[in-house]
Amino acid sequence: MDYQCAQCGSGNIQKIALIHREGIRTYESKTSSDNIANFSDRATKGVSQTEASKGFAPPSKAPYWVAPIVALVLLFSTQWLFKSVFGEPGNFLKIVLGVAFFWLPLIAGIAGTVWFNFFVWPNSKSQWENSYHCNRCGEISVLSKD
Ligand SMILES: [Zn+2]
Repeated sequence: MDYQCAQCGSGNIQKIALIHREGIRTYESKTSSDNIANFSDRATKGVSQTEASKGFAPPSKAPYWVAPIVALVLLFSTQWLFKSVFGEPGNFLKIVLGVAFFWLPLIAGIAGTVWFNFFVWPNSKSQWENSYHCNRCGEISVLSKD
């Protein structure tokens, strides 16, 4: 297949994964003085990233910690709301509330996260890997190898 921009046909295209990787620089610079007796060289370490690199970051997976947090907040807020309206719930009602506002949202949230990470994320990742930035018109083209 031809590797060219889908918009303008220019062959001057570059993988966005490459732009992303090349825009990240880890640096380590030593500020040494001319004095040989001075052994306390100051080293600076860090990571710098260009704006282009940030814009072409790979798609991230959904984090698993969101669902438990949301479920906990939901549980505490509904319990608080229930108490302030109807008073202390009985044991049976506590279980019903716990299932409805903690376990169900928790399971649904985790299932949704797993579904996203296993079925949605791989597609966006491979799309990201096959995306090219046109250095002529700026268009992003997705070019698959097949
Ligand atoms: Zn182009």
